[in-house]
Amino acid sequence: MNIEVAKILFLIFFFLMGAVLGSFACCQAWRIHLKESGKKKINGKTVGNRSVCLSCGHQLSATENIPILSWIFLRGKCKKCGKKIGLAEILSELSLGAVFLILGFFIWPDIISIYSFNWGIVLYFVNLTLLVVGFVLMWILMIYDAKWGKLPTFLLVTVTIVAALFFFTKLLSIVISGTFSTDAWPLVLSLIGSVAILAGIYYLLYKLSREKLVGGGDWILALAIAIMLGSWWLALIALFLSNFLASIYGIAQKIKTKSSLIYFGPFLVIAFVIVFFCQSWLLRLCF
Ligand SMILES: [Zn+2]
Repeated sequence: MNIEVAKILFLIFFFLMGAVLGSFACCQAWRIHLKESGKKKINGKTVGNRSVCLSCGHQLSATENIPILSWIFLRGKCKKCGKKIGLAEILSELSLGAVFLILGFFIWPDIISIYSFNWGIVLYFVNLTLLVVGFVLMWILMIYDAKWGKLPTFLLVTVTIVAALFFFTKLLSIVISGTFSTDAWPLVLSLIGSVAILAGIYYLLYKLSREKLVGGGDWILALAIAIMLGSWWLALIALFLSNFLASIYGIAQKIKTKSSLIYFGPFLVIAFVIVFFCQSWLLRLCF
């Protein structure tokens, strides 16, 4: 097969995988919300493991459950009751699809340069899997926070553990490449700086504002993001960017609805994604 064709197929596969996971993330957010609020039924029908319409409880068939396409064909409405499915679903699918497409672009050169099996490659794929899991967890948190203004604790703990494992695979990879004695200390120092800047400042804001400005979950999400970025410089940019985006949104919201309540979770996640993908360029700016 032609290498260009292979690349396009690879990228399409990544986009579709992201869209499916975006749909999954939206579903999970609803499922967790229903569980947390003690609701088990929609319109008198018990919510099982299958996807349902959130207005009438109609169980979606396989053809109504295809990411992006179903939403377009059904014009964003339930087939049975005609109520709107909501924008969150399609936005989640498209945005995570786009994130995976970019991820695909980044890892394609690595994938085609694999010629033989070694532990470095195993570690590479473990690292990649942790990143993917981290993205999906952050998407669930983002949807949850945007919809209900809360961050479920067990999700925060899970994403922090995933972030810690992600950092651990970075440490392991320098053990394998034999540069542990020279590279380990700078990596750990950089991590400490990253956590102090991003999680530290969110924690201070949370404590000083007595939960008025920043919610209790935000600093834990910031901690997970700080660990995944693993660099004080990237953490600083993520801190600036998340607050900048939240301020713009805050001003727009204040003009429109006069409410000054902002949930930081979605802005932290958006800032993380931007900084994460631009990191090699951003690091070159600083060092
Ligand atoms: Zn319906």
